[in-house]
Amino acid sequence: MSKIKNYINGSNILPLSNKWIDNYNPSNGEVYGKIPNSDKRDVALAVASAKKAFKTWSKTDRNERSKILAKIADLLEENLDKFAKAESKDNGKPLSLAKLIDIPRAADNFRFFAHAITQFGSESYESLGEEAINYTLRHPIGVVACISPWNLPLYLLTWKIAPAIATGNCVVAKPSEVTPMTAYLLGDICTKAGLPKGVLNIVHGLGKTTGNTLISHKDVKVISFTGGTKTGAIIAKTVAPMFKKISLELGGKNPNIIFADCDYKQMLKTTLLSSFSNQGQICLCGSRIFVEKPIYEKFKTDFIKAVKNLKVAHPNNKDAKIGALVSKSHLEKVLSYVKIAKKEGANLLCGGEKIMVKGYEKGYYMQPTVLEIQNNNCKVNQEEIFGPIVTIMPFEKENEVLKMANNIRYGLSASLWTNNLKRTLKFTREIEAGIIWVNTWMLRDLRTPFGGVKDSGVGREGGFEVLRFFTEPKNICLKY
Ligand code: NDP
Repeated sequence: MSKIKNYINGSNILPLSNKWIDNYNPSNGEVYGKIPNSDKRDVALAVASAKKAFKTWSKTDRNERSKILAKIADLLEENLDKFAKAESKDNGKPLSLAKLIDIPRAADNFRFFAHAITQFGSESYESLGEEAINYTLRHPIGVVACISPWNLPLYLLTWKIAPAIATGNCVVAKPSEVTPMTAYLLGDICTKAGLPKGVLNIVHGLGKTTGNTLISHKDVKVISFTGGTKTGAIIAKTVAPMFKKISLELGGKNPNIIFADCDYKQMLKTTLLSSFSNQGQICLCGSRIFVEKPIYEKFKTDFIKAVKNLKVAHPNNKDAKIGALVSKSHLEKVLSYVKIAKKEGANLLCGGEKIMVKGYEKGYYMQPTVLEIQNNNCKVNQEEIFGPIVTIMPFEKENEVLKMANNIRYGLSASLWTNNLKRTLKFTREIEAGIIWVNTWMLRDLRTPFGGVKDSGVGREGGFEVLRFFTEPKNICLKY
Protein backbone atom coordinates (compact mmCIF):
# COMPACT_ATOMS: atom_id res chain seq x y z
CA MET A 1 0.00 0.00 0.00
CA SER A 2 1.46 3.37 -1.01
CA LYS A 3 1.98 5.99 1.68
CA ILE A 4 2.57 9.48 0.39
CA LYS A 5 4.36 12.25 2.29
CA ASN A 6 4.30 16.01 2.56
CA TYR A 7 6.77 17.92 0.37
CA ILE A 8 8.43 20.54 2.55
CA ASN A 9 11.67 22.43 1.98
CA GLY A 10 12.52 20.27 -1.03
CA SER A 11 12.07 16.89 0.71
CA ASN A 12 9.33 14.34 1.12
CA ILE A 13 8.74 14.09 4.85
CA LEU A 14 6.44 12.17 7.16
CA PRO A 15 3.70 14.24 8.81
CA LEU A 16 4.58 15.37 12.33
CA SER A 17 0.96 14.59 13.19
CA ASN A 18 1.62 10.92 12.33
CA LYS A 19 -2.04 10.76 11.34
CA TRP A 20 -3.24 9.26 8.06
CA ILE A 21 -6.26 9.25 5.76
CA ASP A 22 -7.29 6.37 3.48
CA ASN A 23 -7.01 7.03 -0.23
CA TYR A 24 -9.63 5.24 -2.38
CA ASN A 25 -9.44 4.08 -5.96
CA PRO A 26 -12.86 5.09 -7.39
CA SER A 27 -12.69 2.51 -10.18
CA ASN A 28 -12.90 -0.42 -7.73
CA GLY A 29 -13.85 1.20 -4.41
CA GLU A 30 -10.72 -0.14 -2.68
CA VAL A 31 -8.30 1.68 -0.40
CA TYR A 32 -4.94 1.75 -2.15
CA GLY A 33 -2.94 4.25 -0.18
CA LYS A 34 -2.59 6.50 2.84
CA ILE A 35 -2.09 10.24 2.84
CA PRO A 36 -0.96 12.52 5.66
CA ASN A 37 -3.63 14.11 7.79
CA SER A 38 -1.42 17.11 8.48
CA ASP A 39 -1.95 19.18 11.59
CA LYS A 40 -0.91 22.65 12.76
CA ARG A 41 2.74 21.66 13.14
CA ASP A 42 2.99 20.37 9.57
CA VAL A 43 1.37 23.50 8.20
CA ALA A 44 3.63 25.72 10.32
CA LEU A 45 6.71 23.89 9.00
CA ALA A 46 5.60 24.33 5.39
CA VAL A 47 4.78 28.02 5.83
CA ALA A 48 8.11 28.67 7.59
CA SER A 49 9.94 26.94 4.75
CA ALA A 50 8.11 29.08 2.15
CA LYS A 51 8.75 32.25 4.15
CA LYS A 52 12.47 31.54 4.31
CA ALA A 53 12.71 30.70 0.59
CA PHE A 54 10.89 33.92 -0.29
CA LYS A 55 13.87 35.99 0.85
CA THR A 56 15.94 34.67 -2.07
CA TRP A 57 13.33 33.62 -4.63
CA SER A 58 11.63 37.04 -4.63
CA LYS A 59 14.96 38.54 -5.70
CA THR A 60 15.81 35.87 -8.27
CA ASP A 61 15.89 37.22 -11.81
CA ARG A 62 12.74 36.46 -13.84
CA ASN A 63 14.79 34.77 -16.57
CA GLU A 64 16.13 32.31 -14.03
CA ARG A 65 12.61 31.63 -12.70
CA SER A 66 11.38 31.25 -16.27
CA LYS A 67 14.05 28.61 -17.05
CA ILE A 68 13.07 26.52 -14.04
CA LEU A 69 9.37 26.67 -14.89
CA ALA A 70 10.11 25.57 -18.46
CA LYS A 71 12.17 22.68 -17.10
CA ILE A 72 9.26 21.58 -14.88
CA ALA A 73 7.06 21.59 -18.00
CA ASP A 74 9.61 19.43 -19.88
CA LEU A 75 9.82 16.92 -17.04
CA LEU A 76 6.04 16.67 -16.75
CA GLU A 77 5.86 15.87 -20.46
CA GLU A 78 8.62 13.28 -20.14
CA ASN A 79 6.65 11.63 -17.33
CA LEU A 80 3.26 11.89 -18.99
CA ASP A 81 2.38 8.19 -18.65
CA LYS A 82 3.27 8.00 -14.98
CA PHE A 83 1.31 11.13 -14.10
CA ALA A 84 -1.70 10.17 -16.24
CA LYS A 85 -1.91 6.74 -14.61
CA ALA A 86 -1.74 8.27 -11.15
CA GLU A 87 -4.40 10.88 -11.98
CA SER A 88 -6.76 8.33 -13.46
CA LYS A 89 -6.35 5.92 -10.54
CA ASP A 90 -6.94 8.66 -7.96
CA ASN A 91 -9.86 10.35 -9.67
CA GLY A 92 -11.61 7.64 -11.71
CA LYS A 93 -11.36 9.54 -15.00
CA PRO A 94 -10.57 7.64 -18.21
CA LEU A 95 -6.82 7.21 -18.60
CA SER A 96 -7.12 8.47 -22.18
CA LEU A 97 -8.55 11.76 -20.87
CA ALA A 98 -5.77 12.20 -18.31
CA LYS A 99 -3.23 11.61 -21.11
CA LEU A 100 -4.92 13.90 -23.58
CA ILE A 101 -6.02 16.76 -21.33
CA ASP A 102 -5.03 16.78 -17.66
CA ILE A 103 -1.29 16.22 -17.73
CA PRO A 104 -0.49 18.04 -21.00
CA ARG A 105 -2.41 21.03 -19.63
CA ALA A 106 -0.44 20.91 -16.35
CA ALA A 107 2.78 21.06 -18.41
CA ASP A 108 1.29 23.90 -20.51
CA ASN A 109 0.53 25.85 -17.34
CA PHE A 110 4.23 25.89 -16.41
CA ARG A 111 5.39 26.58 -19.97
CA PHE A 112 2.87 29.35 -20.48
CA PHE A 113 3.88 31.21 -17.30
CA ALA A 114 7.57 30.61 -18.02
CA HIS A 115 7.00 32.77 -21.13
CA ALA A 116 4.42 35.16 -19.68
CA ILE A 117 6.67 36.30 -16.84
CA THR A 118 9.30 37.47 -19.31
CA GLN A 119 6.66 39.66 -21.00
CA PHE A 120 4.97 41.01 -17.87
CA GLY A 121 5.42 44.76 -17.40
CA SER A 122 3.89 47.67 -15.58
CA GLU A 123 2.73 51.17 -16.44
CA SER A 124 4.56 54.47 -16.37
CA TYR A 125 3.20 57.97 -17.04
CA GLU A 126 5.01 61.17 -17.70
CA SER A 127 3.29 64.32 -16.35
CA LEU A 128 4.96 66.97 -18.50
CA GLY A 129 3.40 70.00 -16.77
CA GLU A 130 4.53 68.73 -13.37
CA GLU A 131 7.93 67.56 -14.62
CA ALA A 132 7.35 64.18 -13.02
CA ILE A 133 7.28 60.54 -13.98
CA ASN A 134 5.04 58.03 -12.27
CA TYR A 135 6.06 54.42 -12.58
CA THR A 136 4.78 51.28 -10.95
CA LEU A 137 6.78 48.40 -9.59
CA ARG A 138 5.14 45.01 -9.14
CA HIS A 139 6.57 43.12 -6.19
CA PRO A 140 5.92 39.49 -5.27
CA ILE A 141 3.83 39.36 -2.10
CA GLY A 142 5.11 36.48 0.04
CA VAL A 143 3.66 33.12 1.02
CA VAL A 144 0.71 32.03 -1.11
CA ALA A 145 -1.75 29.26 -0.22
CA CYS A 146 -3.03 27.33 -3.26
CA ILE A 147 -6.08 25.18 -2.56
CA SER A 148 -7.58 23.06 -5.31
CA PRO A 149 -10.43 20.57 -5.87
CA TRP A 150 -10.46 16.95 -7.03
CA ASN A 151 -12.00 17.14 -10.50
CA LEU A 152 -8.92 18.26 -12.47
CA PRO A 153 -6.33 17.73 -9.74
CA LEU A 154 -2.96 18.57 -11.30
CA TYR A 155 -4.41 20.77 -14.05
CA LEU A 156 -6.00 23.17 -11.53
CA LEU A 157 -3.28 23.04 -8.90
CA THR A 158 -0.54 23.95 -11.41
CA TRP A 159 -2.78 26.70 -12.86
CA LYS A 160 -2.20 28.40 -9.50
CA ILE A 161 1.32 27.28 -8.57
CA ALA A 162 2.93 28.25 -11.90
CA PRO A 163 1.92 31.96 -11.90
CA ALA A 164 2.49 32.25 -8.14
CA ILE A 165 6.11 31.12 -8.33
CA ALA A 166 6.74 32.79 -11.71
CA THR A 167 6.06 36.15 -10.02
CA GLY A 168 8.52 35.37 -7.20
CA ASN A 169 6.15 34.19 -4.48
CA CYS A 170 6.58 30.97 -2.51
CA VAL A 171 3.74 28.50 -2.21
CA VAL A 172 2.16 26.13 0.26
CA ALA A 173 -0.31 24.01 -1.69
CA LYS A 174 -3.07 21.79 -0.34
CA PRO A 175 -4.59 19.50 -2.93
CA SER A 176 -7.94 17.83 -2.36
CA GLU A 177 -7.59 14.98 0.10
CA VAL A 178 -9.47 12.77 -2.41
CA THR A 179 -6.87 13.22 -5.18
CA PRO A 180 -3.41 13.86 -3.69
CA MET A 181 -1.28 11.62 -5.89
CA THR A 182 -0.12 13.81 -8.78
CA ALA A 183 0.64 16.71 -6.41
CA TYR A 184 2.88 14.31 -4.51
CA LEU A 185 4.68 13.34 -7.73
CA LEU A 186 5.05 17.01 -8.68
CA GLY A 187 7.36 17.61 -5.71
CA ASP A 188 10.06 15.32 -7.14
CA ILE A 189 9.77 16.91 -10.57
CA CYS A 190 10.28 20.37 -9.07
CA THR A 191 13.36 19.22 -7.17
CA LYS A 192 14.79 17.68 -10.36
CA ALA A 193 14.07 20.87 -12.31
CA GLY A 194 16.19 22.83 -9.82
CA LEU A 195 13.43 24.70 -8.03
CA PRO A 196 15.12 26.00 -4.86
CA LYS A 197 14.07 24.39 -1.58
CA GLY A 198 10.97 25.90 0.01
CA VAL A 199 9.66 27.71 -3.10
CA LEU A 200 6.95 25.05 -3.36
CA ASN A 201 5.66 23.08 -0.38
CA ILE A 202 2.75 20.64 -0.45
CA VAL A 203 0.80 19.61 2.62
CA HIS A 204 -1.87 16.94 2.47
CA GLY A 205 -4.91 16.69 4.68
CA LEU A 206 -8.55 17.55 5.19
CA GLY A 207 -9.94 20.87 4.03
CA LYS A 208 -11.70 21.64 7.30
CA THR A 209 -8.55 21.14 9.37
CA THR A 210 -5.33 21.30 7.31
CA GLY A 211 -6.85 23.70 4.74
CA ASN A 212 -8.38 25.94 7.36
CA THR A 213 -5.14 26.08 9.38
CA LEU A 214 -3.24 27.03 6.23
CA ILE A 215 -5.50 29.89 5.15
CA SER A 216 -5.62 31.24 8.73
CA HIS A 217 -1.83 31.24 9.23
CA LYS A 218 -0.60 34.79 9.86
CA ASP A 219 2.31 34.45 7.42
CA VAL A 220 0.11 33.43 4.49
CA LYS A 221 -0.60 36.65 2.62
CA VAL A 222 -2.48 35.44 -0.45
CA ILE A 223 -5.08 32.71 -0.99
CA SER A 224 -5.88 31.25 -4.37
CA PHE A 225 -8.83 28.88 -4.03
CA THR A 226 -10.79 26.74 -6.47
CA GLY A 227 -13.67 24.67 -5.17
CA GLY A 228 -17.32 24.82 -4.13
CA THR A 229 -19.24 28.04 -3.51
CA LYS A 230 -20.03 27.02 0.07
CA THR A 231 -16.34 26.46 0.89
CA GLY A 232 -15.43 29.72 -0.86
CA ALA A 233 -17.83 31.60 1.42
CA ILE A 234 -16.32 29.96 4.53
CA ILE A 235 -12.80 30.87 3.42
CA ALA A 236 -13.78 34.46 2.58
CA LYS A 237 -15.41 34.85 6.00
CA THR A 238 -12.42 33.35 7.82
CA VAL A 239 -9.74 35.51 6.21
CA ALA A 240 -11.59 38.82 5.71
CA PRO A 241 -10.59 40.21 9.15
CA MET A 242 -6.94 39.40 8.35
CA PHE A 243 -7.05 41.43 5.09
CA LYS A 244 -5.50 38.71 2.96
CA LYS A 245 -5.57 38.93 -0.81
CA ILE A 246 -8.00 36.32 -2.09
CA SER A 247 -9.12 34.81 -5.39
CA LEU A 248 -12.11 32.46 -5.51
CA GLU A 249 -12.98 30.21 -8.45
CA LEU A 250 -16.26 28.58 -7.46
CA GLY A 251 -19.18 26.50 -8.69
CA GLY A 252 -21.10 26.71 -11.93
CA LYS A 253 -24.37 25.62 -13.52
CA ASN A 254 -23.81 26.71 -17.05
CA PRO A 255 -26.40 27.23 -19.79
CA ASN A 256 -25.92 25.68 -23.22
CA ILE A 257 -28.22 27.64 -25.55
CA ILE A 258 -28.96 26.03 -28.89
CA PHE A 259 -30.67 27.88 -31.76
CA ALA A 260 -32.13 26.17 -34.83
CA ASP A 261 -29.75 28.00 -37.19
CA CYS A 262 -26.59 26.47 -35.68
CA ASP A 263 -24.23 23.95 -37.29
CA TYR A 264 -26.24 21.00 -35.98
CA LYS A 265 -23.65 18.25 -36.39
CA GLN A 266 -20.90 20.20 -34.66
CA MET A 267 -23.30 21.29 -31.91
CA LEU A 268 -24.44 17.72 -31.20
CA LYS A 269 -20.88 16.39 -31.00
CA THR A 270 -19.71 19.21 -28.74
CA THR A 271 -22.82 19.12 -26.53
CA LEU A 272 -22.09 15.49 -25.77
CA LEU A 273 -18.63 16.54 -24.55
CA SER A 274 -19.79 19.62 -22.66
CA SER A 275 -22.39 17.49 -20.87
CA PHE A 276 -20.41 14.41 -19.86
CA SER A 277 -16.64 14.97 -20.13
CA ASN A 278 -14.87 13.91 -16.96
CA GLN A 279 -18.18 12.32 -15.81
CA GLY A 280 -19.77 15.79 -15.89
CA GLN A 281 -17.39 16.84 -13.12
CA ILE A 282 -16.06 20.02 -14.73
CA CYS A 283 -17.11 23.42 -13.43
CA LEU A 284 -17.54 24.50 -17.08
CA CYS A 285 -19.88 21.67 -18.13
CA GLY A 286 -23.04 22.88 -19.84
CA SER A 287 -25.50 21.17 -17.55
CA ARG A 288 -28.59 23.25 -18.50
CA ILE A 289 -29.42 22.70 -22.16
CA PHE A 290 -31.98 25.02 -23.76
CA VAL A 291 -33.05 24.11 -27.32
CA GLU A 292 -35.07 26.21 -29.75
CA LYS A 293 -38.44 24.64 -30.44
CA PRO A 294 -38.16 23.89 -34.20
CA ILE A 295 -35.25 21.47 -33.56
CA TYR A 296 -36.17 20.36 -30.05
CA GLU A 297 -37.70 16.94 -30.90
CA LYS A 298 -34.92 16.09 -33.36
CA PHE A 299 -32.27 17.13 -30.83
CA LYS A 300 -33.93 15.06 -28.12
CA THR A 301 -33.92 11.92 -30.28
CA ASP A 302 -30.35 12.35 -31.58
CA PHE A 303 -28.91 13.39 -28.23
CA ILE A 304 -30.46 10.50 -26.29
CA LYS A 305 -29.23 8.03 -28.92
CA ALA A 306 -25.69 9.43 -28.65
CA VAL A 307 -25.77 9.48 -24.84
CA LYS A 308 -26.86 5.83 -24.70
CA ASN A 309 -23.84 4.98 -26.85
CA LEU A 310 -21.34 6.54 -24.43
CA LYS A 311 -19.34 3.70 -22.97
CA VAL A 312 -19.13 3.67 -19.19
CA ALA A 313 -16.16 1.50 -18.25
CA HIS A 314 -13.07 1.05 -16.12
CA PRO A 315 -10.74 4.05 -16.68
CA ASN A 316 -8.07 1.81 -18.25
CA ASN A 317 -10.48 0.56 -20.90
CA LYS A 318 -9.43 2.28 -24.14
CA ASP A 319 -13.07 2.69 -25.22
CA ALA A 320 -14.19 4.27 -21.94
CA LYS A 321 -15.86 7.63 -22.52
CA ILE A 322 -17.08 7.80 -18.93
CA GLY A 323 -15.13 6.41 -15.99
CA ALA A 324 -15.96 6.34 -12.29
CA LEU A 325 -17.20 9.25 -10.19
CA VAL A 326 -14.67 10.49 -7.67
CA SER A 327 -16.05 9.00 -4.44
CA LYS A 328 -18.85 6.95 -2.95
CA SER A 329 -20.35 9.96 -1.20
CA HIS A 330 -20.25 12.01 -4.39
CA LEU A 331 -21.93 9.21 -6.36
CA GLU A 332 -24.67 9.05 -3.73
CA LYS A 333 -25.12 12.82 -3.87
CA VAL A 334 -25.40 12.81 -7.67
CA LEU A 335 -27.86 9.87 -7.63
CA SER A 336 -30.00 11.67 -5.05
CA TYR A 337 -30.71 14.35 -7.66
CA VAL A 338 -32.40 11.74 -9.87
CA LYS A 339 -34.88 11.13 -7.04
CA ILE A 340 -35.33 14.87 -6.55
CA ALA A 341 -35.94 15.30 -10.29
CA LYS A 342 -38.59 12.59 -10.32
CA LYS A 343 -40.34 14.22 -7.36
CA GLU A 344 -40.23 17.54 -9.18
CA GLY A 345 -41.97 15.95 -12.17
CA ALA A 346 -39.00 15.80 -14.54
CA ASN A 347 -39.09 13.27 -17.37
CA LEU A 348 -36.14 10.84 -17.11
CA LEU A 349 -35.13 10.39 -20.76
CA CYS A 350 -32.15 8.12 -20.13
CA GLY A 351 -29.79 6.94 -17.40
CA GLY A 352 -30.40 7.66 -13.74
CA GLU A 353 -28.91 4.47 -12.31
CA LYS A 354 -25.70 3.28 -10.71
CA ILE A 355 -23.78 0.85 -12.96
CA MET A 356 -22.00 -2.35 -11.98
CA VAL A 357 -18.92 -2.68 -14.19
CA LYS A 358 -17.94 -6.34 -14.46
CA GLY A 359 -14.91 -7.11 -12.30
CA TYR A 360 -15.16 -3.71 -10.58
CA GLU A 361 -18.55 -4.03 -8.88
CA LYS A 362 -17.56 -1.76 -5.97
CA GLY A 363 -16.55 1.09 -8.31
CA TYR A 364 -18.49 4.37 -8.40
CA TYR A 365 -20.03 4.22 -11.88
CA MET A 366 -23.20 5.88 -13.07
CA GLN A 367 -25.18 6.08 -16.30
CA PRO A 368 -25.08 9.41 -18.13
CA THR A 369 -28.46 10.94 -17.41
CA VAL A 370 -30.74 13.30 -19.30
CA LEU A 371 -33.75 14.94 -17.66
CA GLU A 372 -36.43 16.78 -19.56
CA ILE A 373 -37.80 19.61 -17.46
CA GLN A 374 -40.63 22.10 -17.78
CA ASN A 375 -39.57 24.61 -15.19
CA ASN A 376 -36.29 26.53 -15.18
CA ASN A 377 -36.56 27.05 -11.44
CA CYS A 378 -36.64 23.38 -10.41
CA LYS A 379 -33.91 22.19 -8.05
CA VAL A 380 -32.07 19.97 -10.57
CA ASN A 381 -31.81 22.97 -12.87
CA GLN A 382 -30.68 25.43 -10.22
CA GLU A 383 -28.28 23.50 -7.98
CA GLU A 384 -24.80 22.41 -9.03
CA ILE A 385 -24.88 18.59 -9.27
CA PHE A 386 -21.34 18.21 -10.65
CA GLY A 387 -21.94 14.79 -12.18
CA PRO A 388 -23.23 13.11 -15.35
CA ILE A 389 -26.69 14.71 -15.28
CA VAL A 390 -28.01 17.34 -17.68
CA THR A 391 -31.42 18.91 -18.11
CA ILE A 392 -33.01 19.78 -21.43
CA MET A 393 -35.82 22.23 -22.06
CA PRO A 394 -37.35 23.86 -25.17
CA PHE A 395 -37.70 27.60 -25.70
CA GLU A 396 -39.41 29.82 -28.28
CA LYS A 397 -38.18 33.38 -27.88
CA GLU A 398 -34.72 34.97 -27.52
CA ASN A 399 -35.67 37.03 -24.48
CA GLU A 400 -37.28 34.03 -22.80
CA VAL A 401 -34.10 31.92 -23.01
CA LEU A 402 -31.88 34.83 -22.05
CA LYS A 403 -33.94 35.34 -18.92
CA MET A 404 -33.77 31.63 -18.05
CA ALA A 405 -30.02 31.49 -18.67
CA ASN A 406 -29.44 34.38 -16.26
CA ASN A 407 -32.03 33.37 -13.70
CA ILE A 408 -29.57 31.47 -11.47
CA ARG A 409 -27.12 32.27 -8.67
CA TYR A 410 -24.10 31.13 -10.72
CA GLY A 411 -22.29 32.92 -13.56
CA LEU A 412 -19.24 30.95 -14.58
CA SER A 413 -19.60 30.13 -18.28
CA ALA A 414 -22.14 29.75 -21.09
CA SER A 415 -22.28 28.24 -24.56
CA LEU A 416 -24.24 29.69 -27.43
CA TRP A 417 -24.98 27.89 -30.69
CA THR A 418 -26.13 30.13 -33.54
CA ASN A 419 -24.95 31.59 -36.84
CA ASN A 420 -26.84 34.85 -36.38
CA LEU A 421 -24.39 37.69 -35.73
CA LYS A 422 -26.88 40.17 -34.27
CA ARG A 423 -28.11 37.54 -31.81
CA THR A 424 -24.54 36.56 -30.94
CA LEU A 425 -23.66 40.15 -30.08
CA LYS A 426 -26.81 40.56 -27.99
CA PHE A 427 -26.32 37.32 -26.05
CA THR A 428 -22.59 37.70 -25.45
CA ARG A 429 -23.29 41.17 -24.03
CA GLU A 430 -26.23 40.17 -21.87
CA ILE A 431 -25.39 36.70 -20.54
CA GLU A 432 -24.15 36.99 -16.97
CA ALA A 433 -20.99 34.86 -17.05
CA GLY A 434 -17.22 35.26 -16.98
CA ILE A 435 -16.62 33.05 -20.04
CA ILE A 436 -18.84 32.61 -23.10
CA TRP A 437 -18.20 30.16 -25.92
CA VAL A 438 -19.92 30.72 -29.26
CA ASN A 439 -20.24 27.61 -31.45
CA THR A 440 -17.67 25.75 -29.36
CA TRP A 441 -16.90 24.69 -25.79
CA MET A 442 -13.78 24.54 -23.60
CA LEU A 443 -11.54 26.05 -26.26
CA ARG A 444 -8.99 27.71 -24.02
CA ASP A 445 -6.30 30.28 -24.68
CA LEU A 446 -4.23 30.68 -21.52
CA ARG A 447 -3.71 34.41 -22.19
CA THR A 448 -7.40 35.13 -21.54
CA PRO A 449 -9.00 35.95 -18.16
CA PHE A 450 -10.64 32.95 -16.52
CA GLY A 451 -13.27 33.12 -13.80
CA GLY A 452 -16.90 33.74 -12.96
CA VAL A 453 -19.39 36.32 -11.72
CA LYS A 454 -22.16 36.12 -9.09
CA ASP A 455 -21.75 33.05 -6.84
CA SER A 456 -19.18 31.55 -9.24
CA GLY A 457 -16.35 33.56 -7.79
CA VAL A 458 -14.29 36.66 -7.30
CA GLY A 459 -11.24 37.53 -9.37
CA ARG A 460 -9.72 36.08 -12.52
CA GLU A 461 -6.99 33.57 -13.27
CA GLY A 462 -4.99 33.29 -16.49
CA GLY A 463 -2.77 35.60 -18.55
CA PHE A 464 -1.55 38.87 -17.09
CA GLU A 465 -4.66 39.05 -14.86
CA VAL A 466 -3.27 36.40 -12.54
CA LEU A 467 0.25 37.86 -12.66
CA ARG A 468 -1.28 41.10 -11.43
CA PHE A 469 -3.13 39.20 -8.70
CA PHE A 470 0.07 37.59 -7.43
CA THR A 471 1.97 40.91 -7.29
CA GLU A 472 1.59 44.06 -5.23
CA PRO A 473 1.77 47.28 -7.24
CA LYS A 474 3.83 50.13 -5.81
CA ASN A 475 3.59 53.53 -7.47
CA ILE A 476 6.57 55.87 -7.45
CA CYS A 477 6.28 59.53 -8.38
CA LEU A 478 9.63 60.96 -9.40
CA LYS A 479 9.96 64.70 -9.94
CA TYR A 480 12.78 65.67 -12.19
P1 NDP B 1 -14.57 21.79 -2.04
O1 NDP B 1 -14.96 23.21 -1.91
O2 NDP B 1 -15.21 20.81 -1.18
O3 NDP B 1 -12.99 21.62 -1.83
C1 NDP B 1 -12.02 22.34 -2.56
C2 NDP B 1 -10.72 22.36 -1.78
O4 NDP B 1 -10.89 23.11 -0.59
C3 NDP B 1 -10.27 20.97 -1.33
O5 NDP B 1 -8.87 20.91 -1.35
C4 NDP B 1 -10.80 20.93 0.10
O6 NDP B 1 -10.14 19.96 0.87
C5 NDP B 1 -10.52 22.35 0.54
N1 NDP B 1 -11.29 22.83 1.69
C6 NDP B 1 -12.50 22.40 2.13
N2 NDP B 1 -12.88 23.13 3.21
C7 NDP B 1 -11.90 24.03 3.46
C8 NDP B 1 -11.70 25.06 4.43
N3 NDP B 1 -12.60 25.31 5.38
N4 NDP B 1 -10.56 25.78 4.40
C9 NDP B 1 -9.64 25.55 3.45
N5 NDP B 1 -9.76 24.59 2.49
C10 NDP B 1 -10.88 23.85 2.49
O7 NDP B 1 -14.77 21.45 -3.60
P2 NDP B 1 -14.61 20.03 -4.29
O8 NDP B 1 -13.24 19.52 -4.06
O9 NDP B 1 -15.78 19.19 -3.92
O10 NDP B 1 -14.70 20.45 -5.84
C11 NDP B 1 -15.89 20.62 -6.53
C12 NDP B 1 -16.25 22.10 -6.62
O11 NDP B 1 -15.21 22.83 -7.22
C13 NDP B 1 -17.46 22.33 -7.51
O12 NDP B 1 -18.33 23.22 -6.88
C14 NDP B 1 -16.88 22.94 -8.76
O13 NDP B 1 -17.76 23.76 -9.49
C15 NDP B 1 -15.74 23.72 -8.21
N6 NDP B 1 -14.77 24.01 -9.26
C16 NDP B 1 -14.65 25.28 -9.73
C17 NDP B 1 -13.79 25.59 -10.77
C18 NDP B 1 -13.62 26.98 -11.28
O14 NDP B 1 -12.63 27.24 -11.94
N7 NDP B 1 -14.53 27.90 -10.99
C19 NDP B 1 -12.99 24.52 -11.41
C20 NDP B 1 -13.19 23.21 -10.83
C21 NDP B 1 -14.05 22.97 -9.79
P3 NDP B 1 -10.80 18.50 1.00
O15 NDP B 1 -10.88 17.93 -0.37
O16 NDP B 1 -9.87 17.78 1.88
O17 NDP B 1 -12.16 18.72 1.62
